[in-house]
Amino acid sequence: MTTIKVENLSKIFKKGKTEVRAVDNISIKIDSGLAFGVLGPSGHGKTTFLRLIAGLEEPTSGYIYFDDEVVSEPRRVVLGPEKRGIAMVFQNWALYPNMSVFDNIAFPLKLAKVPKDKIESKVKEVAEELGLAGVLNRYPKELSGGQMQRTAIARALVKDPKVLLLDEPFSNLDAQIRESARALVRKIQRERKLTTLIVSHDPADIFAIANKAGVIVHGKFAQIGTPTEIYEYPATDLIARLTGEINLLQAKVIENNAVISNLKIPLKNVELKGQNNVVVGIRPDDLSLSDTPLDKYVDVGTVKIKLVSYGAGIFKIVVSPVADESVDIIVDAEEPLEAGVETHLLVKIGKIKVFDQS
Ligand code: ADP
Ligand code: MG
Repeated sequence: MTTIKVENLSKIFKKGKTEVRAVDNISIKIDSGLAFGVLGPSGHGKTTFLRLIAGLEEPTSGYIYFDDEVVSEPRRVVLGPEKRGIAMVFQNWALYPNMSVFDNIAFPLKLAKVPKDKIESKVKEVAEELGLAGVLNRYPKELSGGQMQRTAIARALVKDPKVLLLDEPFSNLDAQIRESARALVRKIQRERKLTTLIVSHDPADIFAIANKAGVIVHGKFAQIGTPTEIYEYPATDLIARLTGEINLLQAKVIENNAVISNLKIPLKNVELKGQNNVVVGIRPDDLSLSDTPLDKYVDVGTVKIKLVSYGAGIFKIVVSPVADESVDIIVDAEEPLEAGVETHLLVKIGKIKVFDQS
């Protein structure tokens, strides 16, 4: 389909006398047919990056290529958004309420002055693909949430785009529909081999869809890799937090152990750079609580149960080292434990992450 190549791309917005460097000298290639995810905190340049790719913003400097064609150059959109073969889906999947499902899906083709019989066959084909063939005469208010969202996708796909651009596409959906929306976009992206760029602050969106991902911080990619690489080996503590829940614990390094009060976490397999103090990162699902040893876990010391809560099929247990109750550590557990009880904290071997203290 289309390979997107970005070279030294920057976008600076001027707000009075101050300059906002929304996108800061990004170079990246998104291979044809691949889904690339952009994760990052709010206000760090994700939407601006997507709008530059779409041709809705002109670069302050740098170039964008679709295959070998220059589509944007410094201070100029060479090829307009409507000529780029892109489809866009934004946060609100808004449909036109006064138009039937058929007319909603047909709308982009009507705008492009496609002949009527061609419109009819194309709309039917896309409706078939998305399971909407039976509801083409209904109006948006007569649809379920899932059908509305499928209609919005159908409208985005009706012109057979080569590139799909998604900006926080699932954040306005109910948690229940969100899962199926992600699965649907993933399926269509894979089947149609659409070169896809999805940006979101929610790692679950990126992990569900992207083959490859980048974390944008202050307009630059702070890390690029497969979603699993970024989740398992985040380059910084900030990236660790952006990609999922994690305990970040200030520790002293003593003889290859990270020491937090009475807890001693072995750093045997971690590369250290001679720091005396580090931040240890451990995800709650890499921790366990037990009085007896567990295979593939290492016992790091005694902790006291502080709080127990339940949600989404899992118990969240907050524990503290027995010698320092000001330190909180979250543990995911399948069974509850009584507050006040003391037990051992176990860490899955190979899952300990170490970051520099800032
Ligand atoms: P994100 O999508 O990651 O939340 P944005 O790309 O929307 O981030 O914004 C990045 C930065 O650029 C922010 O500081 C934002 O205020 C600024 N910005 C975005 N669009 C404009 C604009 N049209 N004019 C001025 N500043 C803008
Ligand atoms: Mg945004």
